[in-house]
Amino acid sequence: MTDLLDFTFAEARKKLLAKEFSAVELNRAYLGAMEAARGLNAYVLETPEIALERAAESDARIAKGEAGPLEGLPLGVKDLYCTEGVRTTACSKILGEFTPPYESFVTAKMRADGAVMLGKLNNDEFAMGSSNETSAFGVVVNPWRRQGSDAALVAGGSSGGSSAAVAARIALGATATDTGGSIRQPAAFTGTVGVKPTYGRCSRWGIVAFASSLDQAGPIARDVRDAAILMRSMAGYDKRDSTSVDREVPDYEAAVGRSVKGLRIGVPKEYRVDGMPAEIEKLWSDGAERLKAAGAEIVEVSLPHTKYALPAYYIVAPAEASSNLARYDGVRYGARVAGRDVTDMYENTRAAGFGPEVRRRIMIGAYVLSAGYYDAYYVRAQKVRTLIKRDFETVFDAGVDAILTPATPSAAFGVGEMANASPVEMYLNDVFTVTVNMAGLPGIAVPAGLSSEGLPLALQLIGRPFDEETLFATGAVIEDSFGRFSPERWW
Ligand code: GLN
Repeated sequence: MTDLLDFTFAEARKKLLAKEFSAVELNRAYLGAMEAARGLNAYVLETPEIALERAAESDARIAKGEAGPLEGLPLGVKDLYCTEGVRTTACSKILGEFTPPYESFVTAKMRADGAVMLGKLNNDEFAMGSSNETSAFGVVVNPWRRQGSDAALVAGGSSGGSSAAVAARIALGATATDTGGSIRQPAAFTGTVGVKPTYGRCSRWGIVAFASSLDQAGPIARDVRDAAILMRSMAGYDKRDSTSVDREVPDYEAAVGRSVKGLRIGVPKEYRVDGMPAEIEKLWSDGAERLKAAGAEIVEVSLPHTKYALPAYYIVAPAEASSNLARYDGVRYGARVAGRDVTDMYENTRAAGFGPEVRRRIMIGAYVLSAGYYDAYYVRAQKVRTLIKRDFETVFDAGVDAILTPATPSAAFGVGEMANASPVEMYLNDVFTVTVNMAGLPGIAVPAGLSSEGLPLALQLIGRPFDEETLFATGAVIEDSFGRFSPERWW
């Protein structure tokens, strides 16, 4: 028998329903693989008892012919999602052993659809980072390595646990979140597929907040079809999130395999950034050629305010973060460090509980929101945000169906390589992804080959609001054309 870990969820689903193997057998295989892969540090908490109990419930439902759309799926959950009765830390010391008495909307829906939780996945502290190196639980190791080298590489961030787990086959799918690229960039670094849905498509209720006007939940999966299957379960209206949109959830899977003939795909000239590696440039033009061969029309487009996206994001995101993180005061959640008086207690708790990157963001955020600087920074950044959004609207109004760009400016980098440079070097990683969050649009990262060093590279497609289906259709064409990629097992 083929290794159970090799099946995509679409394949496993058929076999589960045909009773070729059980959900308990499938999840046991994953739990075993997780144990063997602990060196990757993808999970911050394993929940084998919960997994086996839920898998047995899945088998019972399958036996009764009542299988849900995700029945038996071995799922990893980013530790930013609150999980009922299971520790949730956002990978920050400040949350201590916080154990929520409720389940996030998204994971509750997935559970109701039959998904099985294997455990909680590592991420950058409060999802701030691009390499998982800011996590209180330490860095996640990418299951990919450069050819002929055993140097440890990062799995991207902030959803590095999610991307590494899916790539290393220690989760068949994973939840993730994306504020400026945290689903798409880690997917790109690991040869997996990551989808950042339209803002408002998935409820943020029960997900630890980073920057509320930018945060979106989404899946990381083994291929485009699996991402579409997960996405259908994750999306939906929730009255507890005031920005959740009440709109029917389409059958995303039905879009996989749809032709791209006649679609107009825009290639934005401003994404040809200075110093872009030749390899990334080639990947991008190859992608355009292949879509053209599949019948799409490639058109050059202009998004003139692109160069302001990153600086504006690094004002808006810290501003919202400083406000969201004000709630961690040692009174309501997790850890507390005593002091002379209440102010002293707040200060001691926050100084001990937040790591350096989170402290940096709180300081930047408090500064740009302060009375003297609010207009100069925050208000201007919001205006820039509007201009970025308008750039996209102009392109879509002119009849472009989706936009093709590279997902990241490079392949996965080494542990310590960027973290030891400067924070700005790390921020530059988000150059192709933050625009999408600023404009509230959907985006997908799809693997599109290997670098000269043998590491995965990915393309990004950006869609019109609520048109994830075009991204799944076009992403599947890229996937079929370039093939699928998995790392050699060494761990
Ligand atoms: N890397 C970006 C940041 O550090 C984005 C993170 C994210 O999308 N959560 O803010």
